[in-house]
Amino acid sequence: MRDMSAAGSSTAALTRMTEPARPRLGISTCLLGEKVRYDGRTKRDHFLTDTFGEFVEWVPVCPEVECGLPVPREPMHLEGDLSAPHLVTSRTGIDHTPRMRRWAKKRLDELAREDLSGFVFKSRSPSSGMERVPVFDADGVPRRVGAGIFARAFMDRFPLLPVEDEARLHDPELRENFIERIFCLQRYRKALGKRRSRGALVDFHAAHKLEIMAHSPKILREMGRVIAHAKDVRPSELCASYEELLVKALGLKATPGKNANVLRNALGYFKKELTADERAEALEAVEAYREGYMPLVVPLTLVGHYVRKYGQPYLGQQSYLHPHPVELKLRNHA
Ligand code: SF4
Repeated sequence: MRDMSAAGSSTAALTRMTEPARPRLGISTCLLGEKVRYDGRTKRDHFLTDTFGEFVEWVPVCPEVECGLPVPREPMHLEGDLSAPHLVTSRTGIDHTPRMRRWAKKRLDELAREDLSGFVFKSRSPSSGMERVPVFDADGVPRRVGAGIFARAFMDRFPLLPVEDEARLHDPELRENFIERIFCLQRYRKALGKRRSRGALVDFHAAHKLEIMAHSPKILREMGRVIAHAKDVRPSELCASYEELLVKALGLKATPGKNANVLRNALGYFKKELTADERAEALEAVEAYREGYMPLVVPLTLVGHYVRKYGQPYLGQQSYLHPHPVELKLRNHA
């Protein structure tokens, strides 16, 4: 397994030198089709490997194999204290928690240098599941309240990184939200670079106002206050406060109601250019989207058309119009 990772990392390094940077995401190795499961099988997820995989660079992690367990191996589960369960083999009762924790500490140090923008975990795994993993209590009753030992350690170490599991990513809204956060974080890192200047942050904020508004107008106002006082704090503190709010805002759902508000706001920039008919048609499309009769892509395409036609510079720079690769068709569901 580690050999495969080593080969993978040199290929990845070469790719980074020759192509524009793609977001780097951690992923549970079995989701990529590697036969690392306890029963020697795979849990390949075709959306992740064949579609989303075109736009990101995967950093595979299999906690059970990388901590030294063989394939195949005895299945395991979580048991004991619901808030700090142990990882135990299901037939022979061997406790692998200390081994897994030792390995995870080292592996998390390595992952801290991988410039990750997020992680896709394997659902329900006692090592890799991010939520609702069964924990057997003192009476042997399974309670779906746990997180896998490695997934818990990862989320504690990197609390601001977006995480999801492959089962939740089958939901179109959760999928769009996760992918949007990944690409926004990537743009944020690229815009701020290592120097993290006030000017770069102000520019980033200006270009992301509508995208943030679609998630939380309230947090957008808070971010505006942070930016307004940019000169009063050191750039590192400024960026830390801003980043926390950005992650918090994008973690909230962009509902049809909030998107409709953003679209109406955008149409307000064309008061002089649009005829009464054009304006009515655009507002009708926004309303039909809000009521669930058409996908977001329809009114957005109309707004994008007016932005190009009338050369509206403020809207033209808004990430809201292109937050993630159009090929992923994330805004095509009603
Ligand atoms: S769920 Fe995690 S530990 Fe289990 S095979 Fe997949 S990557 Fe390995």
